[in-house]
Amino acid sequence: MLGHRGPFSCMPDSVPACRSGILAAMHDITSHTLRGVEVLSLCDAVGPMAGSLGAPVTEKFPNAAPELWPDLRIAEPTLFTSGDHWILHFHCFLLRDATGRNVLVDTGIGTASSPAADWAPVPGRLLDALADEAGLAPSDIDVVVLTHLHSDHAGGCVTDGEPVFPNARHIVQQAEVDWLARTASSPILGSVVDPLRRAGALDTLHGPLRLAEFVDLVPTPGHTPGHQSIVVDDHRLVIAGDVVLHPVQLIDPSIHYLHDENPQTAATTRTTLLNEIRTRNGLLAAPHLPHPFIELHPHHP
Ligand SMILES: [Zn+2]
Ligand SMILES: [Zn+2]
Repeated sequence: MLGHRGPFSCMPDSVPACRSGILAAMHDITSHTLRGVEVLSLCDAVGPMAGSLGAPVTEKFPNAAPELWPDLRIAEPTLFTSGDHWILHFHCFLLRDATGRNVLVDTGIGTASSPAADWAPVPGRLLDALADEAGLAPSDIDVVVLTHLHSDHAGGCVTDGEPVFPNARHIVQQAEVDWLARTASSPILGSVVDPLRRAGALDTLHGPLRLAEFVDLVPTPGHTPGHQSIVVDDHRLVIAGDVVLHPVQLIDPSIHYLHDENPQTAATTRTTLLNEIRTRNGLLAAPHLPHPFIELHPHHP
């Protein structure tokens, strides 16, 4: 095991009984090992989407059928504020491959001065979680994989212009960097990408990469153009970034997120990836879902 859980828990004290078939598949085990690859969830934060992105959750998933929400409110009440805004979890994942390398997948929301501060519950506690639950210091991280360059995933890898994980290579898709360069309003280029590049710590990919035995990086575009996911043991476990953001998308993968860059591509990617996981009776690991790992099984008519 990488370690044991510290006193902080990502989960609320009382988790309501799950009622729907899909949500009943969720559980709160925080690590899994497959083929010698260990994956541990690390809770960076839990809190509402607020500030510049604050809006009722129904507006965040505009093509969701209205009748889906009442059941979700009953099954997962901790996902809703009294004002019907969305309470997100922000999970990062630590993967230790068979050679003992420590691979951190996403870096959370970062410090109080992070680019995520205008909407997310900063500061994140990823570094505490890394120490408490895995017994690791930032210098122990060998590889950082950024699923994409949104502030809640990349905000934690640079502080005050310096890489937080000083010995790590940082892997991102070139398509993601190119998209960001076209997006004048994004602060991530200057606050994250440029410092990593200056430090010689940024590796950009053009497509898939076998990161280690049984561990593959695969492009999963749509939420952002260069979004990538981590596939372990042929979809028996997938760290899916923001391919899936909310349980409502497990009920219907065609439900898109308001801030998806290309909603149609995102829906296609989500449907395909979820089907792959279901075929393998696999585990979905997604940062914003209320439970870090979710078992998925084939649909039976
Ligand atoms: Zn995102
Ligand atoms: Zn996100």
